[in-house]
Amino acid sequence: MSTFLVEIVTPERKVYEETANMVSVKGVEGELGILPNHIPLVTPLRIAPVTIKRDGGKVDVVAVNGGFIEVRKDKVVILAESAEMAKDIDVARAEAAKQRAQQRLAARQDEIDFRRAERALQRAMNRLEITNR
Ligand code: ATP
Repeated sequence: MSTFLVEIVTPERKVYEETANMVSVKGVEGELGILPNHIPLVTPLRIAPVTIKRDGGKVDVVAVNGGFIEVRKDKVVILAESAEMAKDIDVARAEAAKQRAQQRLAARQDEIDFRRAERALQRAMNRLEITNR
């Protein structure tokens, strides 16, 4: 089966690098399944899990917190503010972040705080989702 390279990179580090058969992401305009020989593309991503299918049926899941996907000829690069594999996620920290964000949302202050808390909540839920799989 033909394959391509997948890299997930944050400002801090390279989180993931593997050869894949398929990558599924949640773009701002909907779900995207990238197969080999996909046309070049750059599009923003939602805060959501990214799924990578590899040879031998292995599936990896990465919590990707926004950013962009760039599909090149023989490589897919995901650039995100933060991203973690399930094994690197501190569940207690994500639970605490979720609670903090929920408390802020319940307090309902101004618009900017609301959006920020909403994004923090999405990041925490994204992390918790992939650790629960
Ligand atoms: P928190 O409020 O707990 O800091 P956050 O969503 O604001 O969470 P980010 O700004 O997205 O955190 O990430 C900052 C750094 O901390 C990144 O390197 C990210 O990978 C890491 N990180 C954040 N939350 C967790 C977690 N629950 N487990 C492991 N690493 C985490």
